[in-house]
Amino acid sequence: MTYSHLKDVLYPIKVFYGPMFSKKSTNLLKMYIDSKEPKMIISHTFDTRCDSDVINTHDGDYVKGIKVKSIYEILDMKDYKKAKEVYIDESQFFGKKLYNFISKERFKKKFILAGLDLDSDLNQFGSLLDIIKLKNVISHRMPSKCYICNSKAFYTLCVVKKNGQILSGSSEYKPCCKVHHK
Ligand SMILES: [Zn+2]
Repeated sequence: MTYSHLKDVLYPIKVFYGPMFSKKSTNLLKMYIDSKEPKMIISHTFDTRCDSDVINTHDGDYVKGIKVKSIYEILDMKDYKKAKEVYIDESQFFGKKLYNFISKERFKKKFILAGLDLDSDLNQFGSLLDIIKLKNVISHRMPSKCYICNSKAFYTLCVVKKNGQILSGSSEYKPCCKVHHK
């Protein structure tokens, strides 16, 4: 039996990206729960919102998942080999490696991703902004609500003095509009 015909299969990638509290994880989890395909869900070990084997949202929904430090750790996992769909939460923490990983693995599996596009200094965070430029990607830029004026918020503000990286679930970060991001 030959699998050479599979070489050209380019599965669609779905991406939910935006600031904190924009329901990215909620959408990811909803799709994961609704899907009847063989699937797995992962997050990064930096995701400290809950226990190590649980993926959850700010709304309190959760499912059993796996947390890893490097995306390449999942390659040898039984669940990964069986999965047709791979759901990745907190994608920003996987850095540039996620782009390389997905560019190759998307010929074998369907990926659904959620994560931040920018850090609180408005610098690119991880590789979602590169991934959405790939072919056959359906991306949803998710707005939150500005914590000051309640209008659409696409940015995350650090309300204490700190640099760069955003730690998930932290109360030190607020979603905000461009006007109130300083
Ligand atoms: Zn505002």
